[in-house]
Amino acid sequence: MKENPKIIFHLSDSQNNQQYQLEGTIKKEVLVDFLDTEQPLTDLTYTISVFKAKDEVFVNGTVECQLEDLCYRCLKPTTENIKGVIEATYVYGNENDTKDKEKELESLENVIYYVGSEIDLFDRVIEALIISIPQRFLCDENCKGLCPFCGEDLNENPSHTCELAEKFEEESVFSKLSALKDNLKDGQENNHNR
Ligand SMILES: [Zn+2]
Ligand SMILES: [Zn+2]
Repeated sequence: MKENPKIIFHLSDSQNNQQYQLEGTIKKEVLVDFLDTEQPLTDLTYTISVFKAKDEVFVNGTVECQLEDLCYRCLKPTTENIKGVIEATYVYGNENDTKDKEKELESLENVIYYVGSEIDLFDRVIEALIISIPQRFLCDENCKGLCPFCGEDLNENPSHTCELAEKFEEESVFSKLSALKDNLKDGQENNHNR
């Protein structure tokens, strides 16, 4: 099994009420495992500041990455600059059991319980990325998309009028239905004539 890289912050080496800065990158090849159809064009860069209080660790940061996917209207490969935000509070707690491995219980407020002397921020970085990916990529706000009948790109050919549109109308479900009705009627009349 492939193991994810770690972004470890060592609590034992850090002082209370001090701010620490973590910076780094996560390789494209790693990101791919967490993405759907999007392709990373760049490695992800992150900047995280960690502030340790007595039993709490406050984590804030940003992630940046460039992704490519198809425009949902015209299917042209489209690049988006993704900027995500990390906000999490780690609370020291071992209420459930005494596993010495870090235990994460996420709540809506993004509070994560931990035990042990280090926290791994990798999941926070990936979360920040995933949440910031738009549901649909759009090459341009005014993208006109494709002709629904023949697939012609309406951005390149805005005055396109489609020959297939008329044909399609004729063959629409409506006309098929009325044809079906006629057939049915014919059938009934034939029965009566018997
Ligand atoms: Zn488009
Ligand atoms: Zn067309």
